[in-house]
Amino acid sequence: MAAEKKKDISTCFKLPNNKTKIVCTLGPASSSDCVIKALMLKGMNVARLNFSHGTFEEHRNLIRTIRETASKLCIEVGIMIDLPGPKIRVGTFEDNTVHLLKGDEVFLTTNDVVGSKKTIPINYKKLPTKISSGDSIYLNDGFIHLQCLEVYGENIKCKVLTGGILSSNKGVNLPGIEIDLDPITEKDLEAIRFGLNEGVNIFSISFIEKAADIIKVRDFAHNLGKNVFLIAKIEREKAVKSIDKIIKVTDGLMIARGDMGVELPIQKVPHVQKELIIKATTKGIPIITATHMLESMIENIRPTRAEVTDIANAILDGTDAVMLSGETAAGKHPVPSVAMMASIAHECEIWREKSQWGIQRIENKICSVSMTVDEVISHHVNDAVQRLPVKYVITPTFSGKTARKVSSFKPRTWILAFSRNELTAESLTFSYGVLPYHVSNLENDWEDTVLKYMKKWNIYNSGDVVVLTKGPSTGKPGETNLLKIITLT
Ligand code: PGA
Ligand code: MN
Repeated sequence: MAAEKKKDISTCFKLPNNKTKIVCTLGPASSSDCVIKALMLKGMNVARLNFSHGTFEEHRNLIRTIRETASKLCIEVGIMIDLPGPKIRVGTFEDNTVHLLKGDEVFLTTNDVVGSKKTIPINYKKLPTKISSGDSIYLNDGFIHLQCLEVYGENIKCKVLTGGILSSNKGVNLPGIEIDLDPITEKDLEAIRFGLNEGVNIFSISFIEKAADIIKVRDFAHNLGKNVFLIAKIEREKAVKSIDKIIKVTDGLMIARGDMGVELPIQKVPHVQKELIIKATTKGIPIITATHMLESMIENIRPTRAEVTDIANAILDGTDAVMLSGETAAGKHPVPSVAMMASIAHECEIWREKSQWGIQRIENKICSVSMTVDEVISHHVNDAVQRLPVKYVITPTFSGKTARKVSSFKPRTWILAFSRNELTAESLTFSYGVLPYHVSNLENDWEDTVLKYMKKWNIYNSGDVVVLTKGPSTGKPGETNLLKIITLT
């Protein structure tokens, strides 16, 4: 039985300090009930479960703890299962690590052996047929660089160009080399089945190359009778090249800068990041900027100035969400890392609201493409927010599309998004400035329902102005065609 989500929202209204969403990877440093609660209180919006690590049993316990804690705190917290995909890895070493020195000659082998300083096992059987003399092989997030000298059967003789310490199971990157491994592995499908059984419907998909990879996951879930919200992790050159097709079928994007910084020349990461943010914002889907955002806080209680600036710049460019990986999963200061991220986001958002920094550019981009009816409505919602003293934007939404479209303009007001669809409410935890609510009971009209909650929450005074979006009927996606400006009494 899936872990239960909260039901009654009539006492749940708390505006967070920041509109930028924070995704936290959970791991050994953040698996206890009290750390999970503290992460939520400091600003975690989405918990990311990395299925490269841990057992199903451990993940099951985490899922229950997250759902129960969020329900007690009366907040919507998304759970995202990260599917590892076909990550190529080195095998294990006798003493867990080896030290490779520049100039050393080493053998990579596809034989199943225990590794040593001379022989490094690799879990990709076809490697010898894919690689040839002169090719580069990167180990451990690109910190170690080998060059292929010659291939002998299952063994590849390499020269160490950049040395370093290599420990068991570290990742291998082969930029520019054609790898015929399906981005969706059997293990991924098993993880999806597990997640769906546990009531998790949000998945991030690693190493995707093309739109069909996303479709494969969606079809697999549909065949099990489930809808899913899918985040395409952009980390390979092929994915960057087919981004326009990927963006048509995905529900969200992640700029997976860790692997991207090895798969692509590292100096391209900044502009790929900016281009992906613009594309996602124009399409109106959420985008997460990920990896190394507060890397130094794995060890230290204070971040570097460059890290703080990196987060602020991603936000000012229009990212919806920022992500913590090792910082919360295995670092020394998981809770201060989230608190730091939230305070950077808060400061940055306040400044943007005052200075309007980048807002015109975002608006011009969105409006430069042809618009559908609900996009025109969203644009006018944003216009109303800029011209009138609007307190809240209220978007009853079936698919979440209207809330996401309004969000992509980065308005200064909060967007209260009400949905009868549980997954829609959860998926809106990724979108900038959206406060999602799952509403199971519905009055005659959405307007009545929403106003009833707002009254219960006691969040407005007589004379306050709100903007409400509406469709002709509830229950169908993408039909928003009305905008109503209401002065509350
Ligand atoms: P990972 O993905 O942490 O699962 O590798 C993110 C990245 O590559 O940046
Ligand atoms: Mn990755």
